[in-house]
Amino acid sequence: MKFHNMNEDEVEKALNTDFSKGLTEEEVKKRRKQFGYNELEEGEKQSALLLFFSQFKDFMVLVLLAATLISGLLGEYIDSIAIIAIVIINGFLGFFQERKAEKSLDALKELSAPQVQVLRDGHWDKIPSKEVLVGDVIKFSSGDRIGADVRLIESHSLEIEESALTGESMPVQKATDALQAADLGIGDLENMAFMGTMVTRGSGVGVVVAIGMKTAMGQIADLLQKAETMETPLQRRLEQLGKILIVVALLLTVLVVGVGVLQGHDLYTMFLAGVSLAVAAIPEGLPAIVTVALSLGVQRMIRKNAIVRKLPAVETLGCASVICSDKTGTMTQNKMTVTHLWSGGKTWTVDGVGYEPHGNFYLRNDLIDPKKDKALQQLLMFGMLCNHAEVFQKNNDFLVDGDPTEGALLIAAMKAGYSRAALPGQFEIVKEFPFDSSRKMMSIIVKDHHGRTFVVTKGAPDVLLGVSEALLWEERQQYLTKELQGTIQTAIHDLASQALRTIAIAYKPVQANTMILHEAEAEKGLTFIGLQGMIDPPRPEVKTAVKECKQAGIKTVMITGDHVITAKAIAGQLGILSKNSKVLGGKAVSEMSVGQLEEVVDDVSVFARVSPEHKLKIVKALQNRGHIVAMTGDGVNDAPAIKAADIGIAMGITGTDVAKEASALVLLDDNFATIKAAIKEGRNIYENIRKFIRYLLASNVGEILVMLFAMLLALPLPLVPIQILWVNLVTDGLPAMALGLDQPEDDVMKRHPRSPKEGVFSRGLGWKVISRGFLIGAATLAAFMIAYGQQPDDLAYAQTVAFATLVMAQLIHVFDCRSEKSVFARNPFGNKYLVWAVISSLILMFIVIYYPPLQPIFHTVPIIAIDWILIAGLSAIPTFLLAGTFLVSKTR
Ligand code: ATP
Repeated sequence: MKFHNMNEDEVEKALNTDFSKGLTEEEVKKRRKQFGYNELEEGEKQSALLLFFSQFKDFMVLVLLAATLISGLLGEYIDSIAIIAIVIINGFLGFFQERKAEKSLDALKELSAPQVQVLRDGHWDKIPSKEVLVGDVIKFSSGDRIGADVRLIESHSLEIEESALTGESMPVQKATDALQAADLGIGDLENMAFMGTMVTRGSGVGVVVAIGMKTAMGQIADLLQKAETMETPLQRRLEQLGKILIVVALLLTVLVVGVGVLQGHDLYTMFLAGVSLAVAAIPEGLPAIVTVALSLGVQRMIRKNAIVRKLPAVETLGCASVICSDKTGTMTQNKMTVTHLWSGGKTWTVDGVGYEPHGNFYLRNDLIDPKKDKALQQLLMFGMLCNHAEVFQKNNDFLVDGDPTEGALLIAAMKAGYSRAALPGQFEIVKEFPFDSSRKMMSIIVKDHHGRTFVVTKGAPDVLLGVSEALLWEERQQYLTKELQGTIQTAIHDLASQALRTIAIAYKPVQANTMILHEAEAEKGLTFIGLQGMIDPPRPEVKTAVKECKQAGIKTVMITGDHVITAKAIAGQLGILSKNSKVLGGKAVSEMSVGQLEEVVDDVSVFARVSPEHKLKIVKALQNRGHIVAMTGDGVNDAPAIKAADIGIAMGITGTDVAKEASALVLLDDNFATIKAAIKEGRNIYENIRKFIRYLLASNVGEILVMLFAMLLALPLPLVPIQILWVNLVTDGLPAMALGLDQPEDDVMKRHPRSPKEGVFSRGLGWKVISRGFLIGAATLAAFMIAYGQQPDDLAYAQTVAFATLVMAQLIHVFDCRSEKSVFARNPFGNKYLVWAVISSLILMFIVIYYPPLQPIFHTVPIIAIDWILIAGLSAIPTFLLAGTFLVSKTR
């Protein structure tokens, strides 16, 4: 018999599990050995060896290797071996950089891997989907992706979209009864749910019957998701730029070689020098360093609780000009506590500490017994019935499992002495219509022990009021007149203006055994019982974060399903509402076209009582106004807006899989302040990339120009090929990487957002590259000419001085690159990685100059103190000459 033909008991037995407690820890260990992990096998990855060899596939590197080979055959052993060694070391560096980039991208994928709610040892826990085993009991609700193949054992209006397996995009309704037919297609297995399919509505519980490659999904391997290419706009731009730079570098090299030959240098020497120059000057390593800088930045973001799912977002983050954020849980703590209750004109208050289910009820400051008032009793009891949350104790702390709003209602009822445990004998829940943010209600159909059946609905008070016909007033049912509606409105307003989140409770009796199939049938003609108002304190760090965003030219917009007045009160506390900003309700948003919304959207700081569907309109309107929009969300219906936003952000704790999949950034702590931290990091990463682009290119310009100038002036070669390669190796690698790890400048969050259209060389970067590069070249040439003038017979001496000047000039210039303003704008030694990188590069330089066995290889001779004074003076010029203008302008 197959699982879909079995009834629940048979399934339980066949899988040797316990539906009420799940698997035990021991059983998990045993089954792990038997079944392994719930993973789909991925396609082949590039092997380490291939990756290593791919470092040498660059055209110029191949030409260089060929040229050295020829020079080796001609007898120049030392030179050719040394050049090959440097090329290999360079290859290793590139290899490690790419490996690191790849590894951290893999780690990212792992972090954003889906989670599954599973019942083990009697407790519901969230575990990575990878760890699910056959026999595990798992639960899921709207927005979740099913983590394995399951046989359903509970289904509440459960609908699943199975297009990944069946191609059918209409969701299928699910049930739990055993099916008769043995051979059914996936689309007909209505009591089963399959890995990779998506819950579009309702909720359910199921027992896992297959994992990993044994699932239906595992069997159609060609459908496995391929890894997305994660190239950022800057990387793409750099790739194009790289091509141009190659051409420019080659042309200049040809020019150097041509002029050199014309000036009487021999062709062979010039050719090798030219190729070495081309290899050094072409920034082929740039893309890899950019990836490393991006992924290191991404790791710093993880430490700040932000997971980047799509690498391009790192760059876009720095351009964000508006953050649209949910309120509940993101700006507030999502720790709800009922403090006020209202029914029939009376307002009660409740006290208590945190989630502890103990507290007293007061009516106008007088202690009362909540069980003595029928309306209050019903308000609390129904709030607990229409509710999935659980309260449990862990290390003396009371915690809520489930929706915090429901947790608050449950605890309020517990404070009055009601208990969930006592319910089963008294009430039986026949059907449930789960909560959704668009309806803003949840309903159950329930039978009591007298056999009476009724609908209990809880939800947003203004919505519930619209579907109520009567009101419970002093234990009597009254027709809901305009006047009474006004009274309720006032009560809602009173609670909301105290920044309380409000929930209303209503009910209606129905005939026993009537079939209510749709929520619209249940949620009409209700009798309004009353309100519960709960506090949800703002997160303390949000106010500062909002302020910092404002200074950074980023506007914060609150988008919430909550009541307009509540939203306004909280936005006021957080500094989101300024004098001129407006609050717009969901109804108004519905009635406006995108064009109309566009006209007012710049003035709106709070959108309240909106449905997730409105978010897309808001994103569009903002984008049409030229904004770069970051938008948060957690539910299925938020996904389109998250996708459409420039930076889609999903909640890590409360977010559904669908929202996470649509997002570029996931907040592990659901916290608004984390968005700000990510933006700051995003801005910094981009600035750091600019820093090393500037450094590397200026260095390359310097290297090419010194050779070109020398040839034009009919001088001997100022640097031999191996020296050129060495400069490139020791000055490009470590210092550039260290710039990628630089701390942000103090004013990163005081500047306006960058335009996403900005080119690589904007904001004066091109000028900086050319001017510094020119000066580095000129200083090196000057050093060479002075030394050569002093000892015309000793070319190696002049070349050593030029070599040292070039290295030193670059290593001084690297400190200048830390700031867009000037080397004096910040403590030059503030980046300890950079200081160490520079020290190690200096040591390497000293070794090749002073270690005798290396001298013949590098064509160096030991130089003396007086030479170093000349070198130091000249190599400081490129950095300090232009920095001096900054100081002068500052003192003016
Ligand atoms: P945000 O969009 O900032 O997260 P929110 O959480 O208040 O705001 P929703 O979850 O859409 O947005 O809730 C909208 C309204 O629906 C709430 O103000 C509340 O009145 C009601 N509500 C929230 N949760 C439930 C629930 N579990 N059952 C019934 N009604 C609920």
